[in-house]
Formats: sequence, C-alpha cells, structure tokens
Amino acid sequence: MRDAEQKTWSDVVDAARRTVADGLVVGTSGNVSARVGDDLVLVTPTGVPYHRLGPDDVVAVDLGTGRQVRGSLRPTSELPLHLAVYRGTDARALVHTHAPHATAVSTLVSELPPIHYMTADLGGPVRVADYALYGTPELADAVLHALRDRRTACLMRNHGMISLGESLEQAYDRGAQLEWMCRVWLAASSTGAAPVVLSPAELAAASAKLSGYGQRSPGRP
Ligand code: 13P
Ligand code: ZN
Repeated sequence: MRDAEQKTWSDVVDAARRTVADGLVVGTSGNVSARVGDDLVLVTPTGVPYHRLGPDDVVAVDLGTGRQVRGSLRPTSELPLHLAVYRGTDARALVHTHAPHATAVSTLVSELPPIHYMTADLGGPVRVADYALYGTPELADAVLHALRDRRTACLMRNHGMISLGESLEQAYDRGAQLEWMCRVWLAASSTGAAPVVLSPAELAAASAKLSGYGQRSPGRP
C-alpha cells in the first residue's frame, strides 16, 4: 500500500475510534471514509469494533466502479451513501454517526432551527433527510437531497447524521459542532418556551465574520 493510503487509513481508524470515545456512537454504529487521490475511497468495514482495526485491515473501493480494490473485510453497509456523496459533492471525507442529540432532533423537525450563530458555519439551517432504510440507495438519495446547496452536514430522520469536509478533521469537527447545536436546541426547547431563532440577515453577518475567524498567520495572536 502506498504511503498516502496508509496514512489516510490510520486517520480513518482514528476518527472512527474517536466517535466511540466521544459518545457519538455505541459499538459498531456509524462509519467513516476518506478519499485518496482521484479514484480511491477508504471506508470502515461493516460491523467491526473500531478498536480491533489495524494497519492491515484497510478497505478501499474504486469511486468510479464501486468495486472493492483492497482488503478482505466487507465495506460499511452505508457504502452507497459514501459513494453518492463523493460523486455528488467535492467532499474528501465523511463521518456518519448516531450522535444522541442529533438523532433525537431528527425525529422532531425537518430542519434544526437556527438558534445559534454557528449555524452559519454549516452554510445555514441544517436539514433532516427523509427516512429510508439504512444502507440503501434510497437513503443515499435522501441525504444528497438534504445536502443541496449546503454541503457540510445533515441529519438523517430516525437514524443520525453525516458531516463532510475537505479533510477528516473538518468533517469530524462539523459533526461535533452539529451535535452540540442539537443539544442546545433540545435543552432550550425542553423548557416549554419557544427558542428565539436568528434571522437570515443575522446568519449572513455571522457567516461573513466567521470567514475571518481565527489566527491570521500560524503562531501569531
Ligand atoms: P456499518 O457497521 O455497516 O458501517 O453500519 C453502521 C451504520 O451506522 C449503518 O447506518
Ligand atoms: Zn447509521
């Protein structure tokens, strides 16, 4: 295996283990993938505890044909979803979890009400994809539809969420941020009062400011 594949596989396994450690999934739920070059997608195998995965367990699929080209473990049951997202967007990494607050919200609304300015960081109010059976092309279609003009993350009705990014780190951070926003909305709504939502203008202002967020150059305050 080439160095780039080995490094990406190690990052995929680390991210998958982190989803368990951070309480975003239990057991073998969820799945993680990342692209290598133009053709390869490395994906977690189906139904294998992430702590058991080692450097030799790589599972690679050709993006064009959908055929497995490396490894003997069967790819995640959500392979149709991962391939559809890579074919339909410019994402390089995808994290799918059953994060508890996100999953709870997916049963209540058709989009997460924009009560926090970090909604702007995800491109606007996060939609909930229609329910379809896990692992089906119908679920992949529903998710792609929910991601239209907002290729960062979506909730999946009665199931969980996915988050995408240019890197595994970005995809993971978006998913963690979305889970946190779902938690905040559930906490606010559980008081019985209706949480105040941000207007499109307020979100646009947050989006403009967030584009300059952080350090201007590495190591400088
Ligand atoms: P896999 O173990 O096949 O990745 O399935 C877990 C899951 O979350 C299905 O939606
Ligand atoms: Zn799932």
